[in-house]
Amino acid sequence: MSKSSKYRFGTKAIHSGIEPDPATGAIMTPIYQTSTYVQSAPGEHKGYEYSRSNNPTRKALENSLAALENADYGHCFASGLAAIDAIIKTLKPGDEVISTNDLYGGSYRIFTKIFEDFGIRFHFVDMLDAPAIEQHINEKTKLIWVETPTNPMMNIIDIEAVSKIAKKHYVLLGVDNTFSTPYLQNPLDLGADFVMHSLTKYIAGHSDVIMGALATSNKAFSDKITFIQNASGAVPGPQDCFLVLRGIKTLHLRMQRHCENGAGVANFLKSHPKVDKVFWPGFASHPNHDIASKQMHGFGGMISFSLKENSQEAATAVLKRFELFTLAESLGGVESLSGHPATMTHASIPKEERIKVGLSDSLIRLSVGIEDIEDLIQDLKQALS
Ligand SMILES: *Cc1c(COP(=O)(O)O)cnc(C)c1O
Repeated sequence: MSKSSKYRFGTKAIHSGIEPDPATGAIMTPIYQTSTYVQSAPGEHKGYEYSRSNNPTRKALENSLAALENADYGHCFASGLAAIDAIIKTLKPGDEVISTNDLYGGSYRIFTKIFEDFGIRFHFVDMLDAPAIEQHINEKTKLIWVETPTNPMMNIIDIEAVSKIAKKHYVLLGVDNTFSTPYLQNPLDLGADFVMHSLTKYIAGHSDVIMGALATSNKAFSDKITFIQNASGAVPGPQDCFLVLRGIKTLHLRMQRHCENGAGVANFLKSHPKVDKVFWPGFASHPNHDIASKQMHGFGGMISFSLKENSQEAATAVLKRFELFTLAESLGGVESLSGHPATMTHASIPKEERIKVGLSDSLIRLSVGIEDIEDLIQDLKQALS
């Protein structure tokens, strides 16, 4: 893990956390498809007792993710939401959480529909105005939860500014870094206490696995998470860990192309006569472009846009004509995807609330893949014609 400081990102993606198999010398981490481990005498073992507590394939992945996030400890879970579930279980009834208001729907659901029933209170706050967060902090506040860029409006929250407020009040700061990946953004370096990922998206990258993770250098927090990971048991299987390890080896190459294609698609859409607004933090005209330039190493391939003919019917017509931008939930895979937030991911939000944040009926969200840009532009041209 000392590799985390010595090497650059691409080298870390390929080497960090990975040791040749001690039993055979296999260069790739084997899939240790085992539930238990032989003990030579009661309590005498090689560091592995039962695969809910620990598994060598999972361990390699956890070390690799820690290295990518410049963290000391990594923890993997059966899904992104299972990681969030473990994080909130470190709290107690009466504790309060301050969260981004423009938030992944599943996070909003687990916060309000599961954990509020256990006596934890959540405040959903517009974090573009970082000082405003302070008004919601009291002695019960234990955690600030940031997601940036936000979904689907692609607003950028200033992690460093929020971390200063968190530190001043001795509150933990967690960042859902799923949209950016450690290639584009390293929240721990900006003052966050832990980073959470849905590995399902860019990090695994091939739309073939569901998994989550968190990384931290806070030993006490990591110990609590290790306890919950074993005690609650939402761990991923070794086969899936192997797939994510394989995905990570090309993360830097894929992200490079996601960024290039993202820029190509955003600029094309901006000049198209039928398109109204394009939401992408790479534009100098984006309201948070300065913060994005400061805290991100690139602007990514997530883009939302609205149509001049602002109706669900107009959006549906475009979505139905796409050949390459397949209509599906999820994001971050090698293939381009499209979605209609108003009827898909954000359908449960009342229309007035949606409109207030700019989430109009014609808004289309794209996860720009790593296909040839000429073909992607051609697909947008024909779909918008
Ligand atoms: C998908 C997603 C999650 C949830 O992850 P799963 O792996 O689907 O459980 C959490 N946060 C963000 C930003 C996501 O996109």
